[in-house]
Amino acid sequence: MSTVVVMLGPPGSGKGTQAKRLVDVLGIPHVSSGDLFRHHLSEGTELGRMAHGYMERGELVPDRVTVEMVIERITQPDCDEGVILDGFPRTLTQAEALDEALREQGMAVTLAPLIHVSDEEVIRRITARRVCRDCGAVYNLVFEPPQEEGVCDVCGGDLYRREDDDPETVRHRLYTYYKETSPVIGYYFAQGLLVEIDGQQPTADVERDLRNAVQRLGEPA
Ligand code: AMP
Repeated sequence: MSTVVVMLGPPGSGKGTQAKRLVDVLGIPHVSSGDLFRHHLSEGTELGRMAHGYMERGELVPDRVTVEMVIERITQPDCDEGVILDGFPRTLTQAEALDEALREQGMAVTLAPLIHVSDEEVIRRITARRVCRDCGAVYNLVFEPPQEEGVCDVCGGDLYRREDDDPETVRHRLYTYYKETSPVIGYYFAQGLLVEIDGQQPTADVERDLRNAVQRLGEPA
């Protein structure tokens, strides 16, 4: 049986951090659509150039290209046992396209954890977020600062603020989240796949709740 986890929650809810922690628990890869786009951007591909304007404005990249990019990634052999998706699907069209692609492989979404965080907290967290240019490790200047300012603890790389992490763009990303992504929450709720998690507890408690939800997957209802 394969496991497909779809992490839901506003930008800055910690779903990326939690998705990475689940990799070791489940032994399946983490695929972040935002990371895929940023990779294309840094490689200067045509897709990256196309996506850049949308990302800069805090808007969604059109469904057709996003779906194609993510489906191409999750049909790689390393996802045969399943995948932890982060940042995808963000629209109903994407959710339906995902279901169809999984069905063709004899798979289905197994769990959709929704990490709740208030809007104020989202803005507070994201504007203090810093990312390592080399290894992608994520820090927060308020509650998870690096040991040395501007330097990654893991690899010594340079830390930077994502260009879409400024307060104005974050507010627009939140607006996009409510407008486009909230129907996706209803979509998974209706299928009995949604598990709601308090994202404002300490990170370790969020991780515990998430692990518990994942562990319950294998048990009879
Ligand atoms: P993230 O790292 O998930 O916050 O994504 C950064 C940006 O990439 C978003 O603000 C969008 O512009 C774009 N993006 C990421 N995932 C998607 C998606 N599933 N659909 C459309 N655009 C996306």
